[in-house]
Amino acid sequence: EAKRLGRRRAQAYVPGLAERLAERQHIVDDLHEALQTAGFTLAFQPVVQLSTGITTGYEALIRWNHPTRGWVPPALFIPIAEECGLIEDIGRWVIMDACRQLSGWSSHLHVAINVSAAQLKSEALVHHLTQAILVHGIAAERVEIEITETALIDDADRTAATIDRIRRIGVKVALDDFGTGQSSLSHLRDFKFDRIKIDRSFVVRAGFDPRSMAVLRGIVGVGKELGVLTHAEGVETRDQLDLLRMIGCDAVQGYLVGRPVTPGNEQIERFERVLQKATAHRERRGPP
Ligand code: C2E
Ligand code: MG
Ligand code: MG
Ligand code: MG
Repeated sequence: EAKRLGRRRAQAYVPGLAERLAERQHIVDDLHEALQTAGFTLAFQPVVQLSTGITTGYEALIRWNHPTRGWVPPALFIPIAEECGLIEDIGRWVIMDACRQLSGWSSHLHVAINVSAAQLKSEALVHHLTQAILVHGIAAERVEIEITETALIDDADRTAATIDRIRRIGVKVALDDFGTGQSSLSHLRDFKFDRIKIDRSFVVRAGFDPRSMAVLRGIVGVGKELGVLTHAEGVETRDQLDLLRMIGCDAVQGYLVGRPVTPGNEQIERFERVLQKATAHRERRGPP
């Protein structure tokens, strides 16, 4: 490792270990601060049923507006929060706030909540979910958690038991970023999911690469065999949407059908219009 770093250092300036540790510690301190001062918000991205175009729910995506750094992407601070043990508290806040917001939405809508490996390993997750559902008086079936394949790697028996406990209280479980981990198919065999979220990389390539298209079609087929909803992530073009419809994918998410929006800021009006439209749809067509 040191040798690799040494070689990189010859090409470009890489901060020394001490500097990087100090920088990290700043982020950890600021994460603590953010937890205490309502520094996080949730953005919501629509999930659309492909056959009808109806919005069936929203995925909650955490946002951190840092006092001096501005918006820090979750891909940067979630791994740090995982390592320093703060993810449980942050995750608890996400669950509580997502359920709070869900309680104000039209009753056919669901909310999807990302849960990291450390949360899945802890006894507290089921408790936090139950608590949020009771406090906000919502139906458990309207809540879905998303877990990535890397969260399934160690202690498969215990993880399978946790997933079962979560599903027994009525909360749905989705496998996020499907296809990016190792032995993806065995996960579909060994754990029970309600939804498979096919990673964006498959969607992006399917448009021009017949092999990716064949794999995508296969995943949708496996989902159908297992009775699990298939859901494509990161749909950005009309062509991708048409391909997905053609192969019978159940749901889509992506910039084409809706970007993540943050209620409470300048986008709230647009967000509310989206919700009203979804409600109007439901009244016309009945539940999806
Ligand atoms: P994810 O759960 O796979 O979420 C999808 C990511 O793709 C989001 O990035 C979303 O903004 C982005 N995205 C959506 N549609 C498109 C598209 O059409 N094209 C492209 N290029 N990107 C699209 P975001 O919000 O930056 O989140 C990144 C990751 O951070 C998430 O990936 C998730 O793993 C993690 N994350 C976000 N919120 C939370 C949270 O509350 N808790 C935990 N544990 N992880 C979270
Ligand atoms: Mg997700
Ligand atoms: Mg994903
Ligand atoms: Mg992804």
